[in-house]
Amino acid sequence: MKVKVGINGYGTIGKRVATAVNQQDDMEIVGVTKTRPTYEAKLAVQLGYPLYVPADKIEDFKAAGVEVAGTVEDLCGKVDIMVDCTPGKLSEEYKALYTKYGIKAIWQGGEDHSLTGISFNALANYKESWGAQFSRVVSCNTTGLLRTLFPIDSKYKIKNGYVTLIRRSADPNDSKAGPINAIEPVVKIPTHHGIDVQSVLPWINIQTMAVKVPTTLMHMHTVALELGAEPSTQEIIDLFKQTPRVKLVKSKDGVKSTAQIMDLAREIGRTRGDMFEIVVWEDGIKMVGNVLYYYQAVNQESDVIPENVDCIRSMCKLEEDPLKSIAKTNKAMGI
Ligand code: NAD
Repeated sequence: MKVKVGINGYGTIGKRVATAVNQQDDMEIVGVTKTRPTYEAKLAVQLGYPLYVPADKIEDFKAAGVEVAGTVEDLCGKVDIMVDCTPGKLSEEYKALYTKYGIKAIWQGGEDHSLTGISFNALANYKESWGAQFSRVVSCNTTGLLRTLFPIDSKYKIKNGYVTLIRRSADPNDSKAGPINAIEPVVKIPTHHGIDVQSVLPWINIQTMAVKVPTTLMHMHTVALELGAEPSTQEIIDLFKQTPRVKLVKSKDGVKSTAQIMDLAREIGRTRGDMFEIVVWEDGIKMVGNVLYYYQAVNQESDVIPENVDCIRSMCKLEEDPLKSIAKTNKAMGI
């Protein structure tokens, strides 16, 4: 029997999780929710996803000619687990609803760690969510950091980490956010990103700063790590080559910016042109004494998607071995 999954909030993250879940053989989407009869709601119905909406919005959907399968509460009665991809500030209300229906739920990185008390990254702490009712997949930036920090810390011990996050100002389908012609620093230092890394790996000493720039494609991180050992640059390259969901590219192959990375994702036929891996420039990795430097790029819309699939597997006790779950998810998603 497949695990029955609902998506609450069929937006940027929700629609990608829906596709990824239906690519697996041990789980399936039984419905998705929308609050307004937008093009995304119409497309969801066209793709065959039963659409559930707030009870007081049913008439709006009917008036727009969009077929509705029931209310959000009806969907709660049909699923084993809800992947909550709603925007922030709704978590307490929905947590009460999921509790009422006795279903499991996963939230995304826009919510605080305190909501669930467990935060998830497949490689770093898969087992902490084992059988849990509630968990939270950390944000796109935190997922990106954990993917590379965890293997380095496991092998060489990170004594101190200094990361600057150069953040995209908006997602490609977002015409409201900015800046469009400025660079905006986050003046509260350290930013929440390092603190969020510690929600999964509490012992990591890391300080983060961040600036927002006018781009929509990806985030970029510049990373400097003081290690407890002095491995060679080649040993770090070899470690990243063996790490799942980390992809090495070379500037000298023409991958000079985030633009070519997203082109690469389209050319290799990824759904929606997504790059699920964290992309590290191989020729930008350098050890100087015991300090490791590298650059990595994060496709904010998609790196957390395979993590949601693995989180479902851990919470629903479908596969005990994290590496087996990661491999299964990757194979089904073409990673
Ligand atoms: P989004 O705005 O693209 O999608 C949110 C969806 O929730 C929309 O479909 C909207 O219709 C729906 N919604 C709005 N109000 C609702 C309500 N009251 N009940 C049910 N659904 C409602 O947002 P997103 O970018 O997909 O972000 C969702 C979550 O994922 C947030 O926690 C965000 O921080 C996190 N996240 C976003 C990104 C990103 O780059 N977009 C990356 C990683 C994590």
